[in-house]
Amino acid sequence: MTEAAPTQPTSAKSSADTAVKSCGSCTECCRIVAVPELYKNAGTPCPQCNVGSGCTIYAERPQSCRDFDCGWLSADYMGPELRTDRCHVVLLLPDRDTILACCDAEVPEAWRAPAVIGMLHLLARNFADRIVLVKVANRMWRVLEDAILPITS
Ligand code: SF4
Ligand code: SF4
Repeated sequence: MTEAAPTQPTSAKSSADTAVKSCGSCTECCRIVAVPELYKNAGTPCPQCNVGSGCTIYAERPQSCRDFDCGWLSADYMGPELRTDRCHVVLLLPDRDTILACCDAEVPEAWRAPAVIGMLHLLARNFADRIVLVKVANRMWRVLEDAILPITS
């Protein structure tokens, strides 16, 4: 797991939470995102996760889990509808040049929902120094301000 999504506010403050966010009953990053130390692939439930509650080994969790910083939690301009268990997409930064939206492969079209793709277009416009990518299993797309370009078919 990696660092957080950008925290720069954008013009899409539609239904943004201004209060401090919390995971609530969401535990979806622990299923959607891979954890190399545990040999856990993306989309596979983590055996250490108490679904709907949280990590059962939180104090001893692997480094990649410690490094992960959920984009939804970090960005106050993302409203409650974009929490991962509601929109099925985890937002993260794999490197300094990329914004990566990992979509739950069990809901492979979820990233095309208006609230999600609208946010991705907005990120592409407001963070021109980064590329915005969507990943669903082995398929990837690049999202531009006004277009979606398939990278893999
Ligand atoms: S995806 Fe984000 S909101 Fe959901 S459990 Fe993980 S850190 Fe919390
Ligand atoms: S070890 Fe804990 S934090 Fe890491 S994926 Fe599993 S349940 Fe989540």
